[in-house]
Amino acid sequence: MATTPRLTSPDRVVYPDAEITKGEIADYYRAVSRWMLPDLVRRPLSLVRCPDGIAGGCFFQKHHADSLGEHVGEITLREVSGQGDYLYVQDLDGVLELVQMNSLEFHVWGSRIDDVEKPDRLVFDLDPDEGIEWNALKAAAREVRDRLAELRLRSWVRLSGGKGVHVVAPIRTGPDWSEVKAFCEAFADSLVARAPQRYVATASKAAREGRIFIDWLRNSRGATSVTSWSLRARPGAPVAMPLTWEELGRVRQAGAFDLHKALRRARNLKRDPWHAMHRARQSLPADVVP
Ligand code: ATP
Ligand code: MN
Ligand code: MN
Repeated sequence: MATTPRLTSPDRVVYPDAEITKGEIADYYRAVSRWMLPDLVRRPLSLVRCPDGIAGGCFFQKHHADSLGEHVGEITLREVSGQGDYLYVQDLDGVLELVQMNSLEFHVWGSRIDDVEKPDRLVFDLDPDEGIEWNALKAAAREVRDRLAELRLRSWVRLSGGKGVHVVAPIRTGPDWSEVKAFCEAFADSLVARAPQRYVATASKAAREGRIFIDWLRNSRGATSVTSWSLRARPGAPVAMPLTWEELGRVRQAGAFDLHKALRRARNLKRDPWHAMHRARQSLPADVVP
């Protein structure tokens, strides 16, 4: 019989600046689970764990360990050389066990454990260079949306909780990682070709100067993106927040939602801002030329 997750040291302070405790973090994930779980469950999952709080040093963990808890699933996946044991959750109990192990951030693959070699979404991570105005970043997100729409792909937007935004387009499973990645690279290149003064598609810092990096590398096998409603291990306890495109217009920064605002939103939300995404049936286009 699986046991109920326990939480030790609920009074330990995890975010010293925001005075948020481990107990409040568990309460947070419990409160938002209705909105968070659909995009989190049954995907290979990586963690940012901060055993001594965000000021004490955090580490990124992608491999499974039995110590994570009995509600945390294990899946063996091929790696560049050999194979590795990855983790996933399928319910709130799994999340709470990971919180007990001081996990703060949850990052997922763009595929599900049931068919891990077949991505079910494209993620364009828009990373602004310093000095890029928030309005310019919003305009870029909308341009990505509109270009995807020309290719008959509807997309949804998320604040990263850090500096940028993510534009996510679901696809019917079928193409493998190499096909999906090639499409995403070509798509990013086509944006750059149209506006080289505004966008770059290469990760090099120098090329980025004054531009927005259309990071298409999230669409590589094994890459992860922060999942919606995840806290970030950064001062102020910001949250990665999914929005409607209409809501994006009213938001002033990528870290606009902290734990408290996210809780309020979860309580008042009538409908998942991405609800239509979960029902979208659209295929990866053959090419980036409409
Ligand atoms: P921002 O808006 O600030 O760019 P973000 O979520 O888009 O926020 P980062 O927080 O910079 O981006 O994270 C980069 C990505 O790389 C994360 O989504 C995560 O999946 C991955 N990542 C982060 N840390 C590590 C690490 N130590 N090792 C491997 N991958 C990591
Ligand atoms: Mn980013
Ligand atoms: Mn990036």
